[in-house]
Amino acid sequence: MEYLGNKLDLIFKLIGEDVSGSMVELKKVEQLDSKNVEKYKLNKLKNLMEFACDNSVFYGSLFGDELANGVDPQEILSQMKPIDKQVIRENFEDMICEKAPGGWRCTSGTSGSPFVFPKDKRALSYMDGMMFSVYQWHGIDPCDRQARLWGRAVGRVAGFSQKMKDFVLGRKRLSVFAMNDVSCREYFYALKKIKPRYFYCYPNAIYQFALSLERQGLNGRDLGVPIAICTGEVLFPHCREKIEESFGCKVVNEYGSSENGIIGFECEFGRMHILPTVIVQIINPDAGGFGKIAITELNSRSLPFINYTNGDVGRLDMGRCCCGKPFDVLEIKDARVDSYIKCQDGTIVYDAILAYIFSGKVAQFRAIQERIDLITIKVVPNGAFGVDLQDSISLKIKSYLGDNVSIIFDIVDKIPHEKSGKLRYFIPMN
Ligand SMILES: [Zn+2]
Repeated sequence: MEYLGNKLDLIFKLIGEDVSGSMVELKKVEQLDSKNVEKYKLNKLKNLMEFACDNSVFYGSLFGDELANGVDPQEILSQMKPIDKQVIRENFEDMICEKAPGGWRCTSGTSGSPFVFPKDKRALSYMDGMMFSVYQWHGIDPCDRQARLWGRAVGRVAGFSQKMKDFVLGRKRLSVFAMNDVSCREYFYALKKIKPRYFYCYPNAIYQFALSLERQGLNGRDLGVPIAICTGEVLFPHCREKIEESFGCKVVNEYGSSENGIIGFECEFGRMHILPTVIVQIINPDAGGFGKIAITELNSRSLPFINYTNGDVGRLDMGRCCCGKPFDVLEIKDARVDSYIKCQDGTIVYDAILAYIFSGKVAQFRAIQERIDLITIKVVPNGAFGVDLQDSISLKIKSYLGDNVSIIFDIVDKIPHEKSGKLRYFIPMN
């Protein structure tokens, strides 16, 4: 309550999350020196591994014997083969810990293959507590108003619950599924009234918002929003510059995922610190220290993510940062790139809408915008993919992109990786 405020504390307690408790703990960790932060994390790792061994067939067989023989958990982790979405999908039943039931979450990921997993309240308490704690690095309090440039829930029930959440948490949302000059102008005037404390956004979305305001002769600086937290995709330097210039704000980069919450967060010196809720290992680093990022999230119990790779590449910088925080610094080389679908009327639609629409309906897909009025979609079916399902998906897509766009489905057995090794689900027009 000390950090969260009465209203939010009560709301989180009602939904079964002890966010205040986790914030108190995490704020104490922030006061430790780096050695003791390490100790704190290793203790958490030990507890996590013991729990995973006792409650999950998969992890029990993976390192149960070593743990029972007294091998150091850190040693086990450093020797362990990383897991990824594919491994989790193949061993799902054996990985779940039934003693810690969790609500279901779904990533809209960039692979075109939706990933569903359980997350328990304990993990969510830490994820939310960590988020509020790091936002305070930049003077943002949990109750501060947020301008959110993000997706909008698809479906009536999900839409209603999102509206309630936005209302309670003081968020004003601009849907990235329907961005055009009209929606941007309306949003600009709405923000002028409510005076948000910060933006929470995809970098590309706020970049497009800035361009739209510019086209319409509106001054982003009139909004007086001092901070933009960018997340969910690569923050390119030109994007950062444009946002800072257009809104007269400071841009803060957040590195996280639906699976594991915030992993790294920029301090006031612009360096990305690895947070105490995760352990990050770099797999097979090259001469420059870069390798695949593997994350162990220390508080999840329903489905432990231990040494989990998400395809991103980075390196650790063990030198201390001027800010004095006791957390290591992470440098990310290449992360997810999302993009927009262009419509004939000038509207741009964030490609994540496709992931929402296809969620649970196919094994995998890749949409390619061939022309402004033509999208072909390769689909690996998950069971039947008949005309009815194709028609209903087409209709949904057209409700966002307009009736004039043609959608052609191409049923295939496999969707190959791109040259970059990434599996993107949307390829924009050149
Ligand atoms: Zn720092």
